[in-house]
Amino acid sequence: MQGEKIWLSPPHLGGSELKYIQDAFDTNWISQYGSNIDAFEKTIEDYLGYDSFVTALSSGTAAIHIALRLLDVKEGDFVLCQSFTFVASANPVLYQNAIPVFIDSEASTWNMCPNALEDAIKYCLQQGKKPKAIIAVSLYGMPFMVDEITEIAKKYEIPIIEDSAEALGSKYKDRPCGTFGDLSIISFNGNKIITTSGGGILISRNQQLTDKALYLATQAKENRDYYSHSEVGYNYRMSNISAGIGRGQMEVLEDRILKRRENHSFYNEIFKNYDEIDLFAEPNDDFYSNYWLNTITIEENNYQITKEKLKKIFIENNIETRYLWKPMHLQTLFGGYKFFGNNLCGILFDKGLCLPSGTNLTDESKSKIRDLLTDIRV
Ligand SMILES: *Cc1c(COP(=O)(O)O)cnc(C)c1O
Repeated sequence: MQGEKIWLSPPHLGGSELKYIQDAFDTNWISQYGSNIDAFEKTIEDYLGYDSFVTALSSGTAAIHIALRLLDVKEGDFVLCQSFTFVASANPVLYQNAIPVFIDSEASTWNMCPNALEDAIKYCLQQGKKPKAIIAVSLYGMPFMVDEITEIAKKYEIPIIEDSAEALGSKYKDRPCGTFGDLSIISFNGNKIITTSGGGILISRNQQLTDKALYLATQAKENRDYYSHSEVGYNYRMSNISAGIGRGQMEVLEDRILKRRENHSFYNEIFKNYDEIDLFAEPNDDFYSNYWLNTITIEENNYQITKEKLKKIFIENNIETRYLWKPMHLQTLFGGYKFFGNNLCGILFDKGLCLPSGTNLTDESKSKIRDLLTDIRV
């Protein structure tokens, strides 16, 4: 082990977060009300545009759960979900005792495959139940095939929940991720492009839905002069302290996006010399990725380069890397559920690796990584 640990994607504070936290302390609004929450929501609404209505919540997972509630997903309903994702995309489907149906990826974005999606919809219709929602993910910051997926969703009149947990700052045809779903979510967990320490937002396209989201996220308390409840609610609101961190982070978002894209160029310079290693990149000019994580896939080669071997070299040098998300249809948790596609995402999992992509990656760390990666053929 040598040198300070290089993390995959650590938090990177901007400078004014403490000022906003101090405001919360000074005014004694340290709980789930206060000006940081209001300002944080407003800042993101302005950033996203396209008539976005934002509710700040305790996590991205909570936001997906609320989205399912808003779409009236109940026990026994089908919900179509991208298989290649972090488990938080799919767990809320189980919270509702609904039935996830998993969809494979396509090769250009690694996200939901339109053909597999349509096959899955037809299967559900044959079972006599139209799916209640499509959970489409923009994984590693790469937007999904928005036009193709939206067209299918419209054709069958199924709402899209856009899981852009990892994609704040990414765009498709110049329009920001977070504005493509009937409901969309973004995460501010500690490892995401910006953070609130832990938190998430739900984005809807109208005020009414956002009011309903806030109501569900605050114990579904009806507006009476006593505590009156007629349906189940949650304690999912973001705190005014976390929102203060988020306000500070929004001030540096543009810088963070550029920095992640610079990291991508850095890796591109290295991997252009390797036929057996592909750096995952935007398929064409319609896609603008925040490159939240830089990921590679390693083809079979004569140099004995494997993801296991690379991971080991990095560990020995105190550098964190991570395998790609293991698809949901291959997880024991989801063993009994249907999957549509040819297992492209399983193949990606088998040969892929995520590389350090933090915005605080120093030049020194980069040279260390470059040196390690220029010496991997044996
Ligand atoms: C991080 C993440 C989530 C969940 O967000 P949390 O804020 O951690 O609950 C959901 N989906 C994806 C794809 C994620 O990466």
